[in-house]
Amino acid sequence: MKSNVRVRFAPSPTGPLHIGGVRTALYNYLFAKKNNGTFVLRIEDTDQTRYVANAEKYIIDALEWCNIPFDEGPNKNEKFGPYRQSERKDLYKKYADILLKKGWAYYAFDTAEQLDSHRKGHEAEGKTFIYNWHNREKGRLVNSLVLTDDEVQKRISNGDKFVIRFKSPQDETLQMEDEIRGNISIDTNTLDDKILFKSDGMPTYHLANIVDDHLMEISHVIRGEEWLPSMALHILLYRAFDWKAPKFAHLPLILKPVGKGKLSKRDGDKLGFPVFPLTYTNEESGDVSRGYKEDGYFANAFINMLAFLGWNPGTEQEIFSLEELIKEFDLKRVSKSGAKFNPDKTNWFQQQYMQTKSDAELTDLYIPILSEKGITKDKKYVLKVVSSIKERAIFVEDFWGLSSFFFENPKEYDAKASKKNWKEGTPELMTELITVINSIEDFSSTNTEKEIKEWITAKEIGFGKVMQPLRLSLVGKLAGPHLFDIIEMIGKQESIKRIENAIKTI
Ligand code: GLU
Repeated sequence: MKSNVRVRFAPSPTGPLHIGGVRTALYNYLFAKKNNGTFVLRIEDTDQTRYVANAEKYIIDALEWCNIPFDEGPNKNEKFGPYRQSERKDLYKKYADILLKKGWAYYAFDTAEQLDSHRKGHEAEGKTFIYNWHNREKGRLVNSLVLTDDEVQKRISNGDKFVIRFKSPQDETLQMEDEIRGNISIDTNTLDDKILFKSDGMPTYHLANIVDDHLMEISHVIRGEEWLPSMALHILLYRAFDWKAPKFAHLPLILKPVGKGKLSKRDGDKLGFPVFPLTYTNEESGDVSRGYKEDGYFANAFINMLAFLGWNPGTEQEIFSLEELIKEFDLKRVSKSGAKFNPDKTNWFQQQYMQTKSDAELTDLYIPILSEKGITKDKKYVLKVVSSIKERAIFVEDFWGLSSFFFENPKEYDAKASKKNWKEGTPELMTELITVINSIEDFSSTNTEKEIKEWITAKEIGFGKVMQPLRLSLVGKLAGPHLFDIIEMIGKQESIKRIENAIKTI
């Protein structure tokens, strides 16, 4: 049976999901699963001016790739639906009216020009204009706190534009509890009377967010630190409605790798690593931003890395499967201070996960890359290649660079290494080696090694004189796995062909 822990991830579809957003989703997911609760996805699209058409699909695709599916959301278990705020539009006015009736909200008719002039007037005196208790009833601002009911009704029926503002309480120290930050107190005199309902007939984020969290029976609000300044208003709204407020947890910021500052969407590819889970194409500008998936990261490596950006288990263990994360995750172990993003650590996680993948799984990932290059080799062969190179790979994309010589003749020979190792007399030596190789019957790695080394010893020359040119001939450079393993893999005919080629080319 599900518990009544219900959390939500509530992104605004204004563009691709940044890794900070994915981490918020992940922590919500882990918290829900740990508590046998429900993870809800709600699309907060009340700000039509910032709406981006392909963003919702991107968000859903990203959660799916990360393997952190939502239990309820658009087109899925719509028990408390709809889950898109634009589809709940008609519902919010009713709640704004409740607050008006209770005296917790008021109509304001001030035009943009009037507000601008107040702002400028204040600035000229070195002050900041805040629409709240200290000026809302002084007569210079046009609202239902100073106008008579008749005047208000007349303006509304005339079609005058209005907003509905929250009436923040005066002279109160509000005590709030954050699951991560502990007690926070706020002097309500510093709050401005935030707009709850806009002149375009849409609620603002604040109103819609509180109404929906209440109606969707959200028990814990886990979100980014950037929403901490809104917490007081949100708590006050719950109080004004006489609703029980959920518990709040504000996650630390994700910081740039060097120095201070929040890692932002705009950092994009600038810092040399992706800030998005999936590649994103901006439909307007055509700009393409890199994504972790397409850059070759495994989803579980990416998730493991993200889990550690602000949380730690309190032990030395760093590699956690999703199940282990669910078991260990605890809001009490989420830090208050910002988490520095470290791209090297991301690669470290990726490398660790690469080693835990089975050779068979990696072979299945490598075969399509080989087919694209027109190479068809049987699975057993590819499996052997993979097992010999995987230790040195971070990405599946690295496989080709580490193993092309298992499949084809080197395209070129390292110039520096050739100069140093391909000397006078080398072609003759290599021609002789061909004869030796030709005569070997048991072509296993150990036997070719034995026979070739015996021949070198008998000739009384240094091993390097033969081994280096041989490696150059087969691999094209002085790198790669054990040479005799390569010889065994590619076989006698191919080895001979490559030595002949090197003699002709170098
Ligand atoms: N729509 C808000 C956002 O885009 C949600 C904030 C919240 O979780 O309350 O981040």
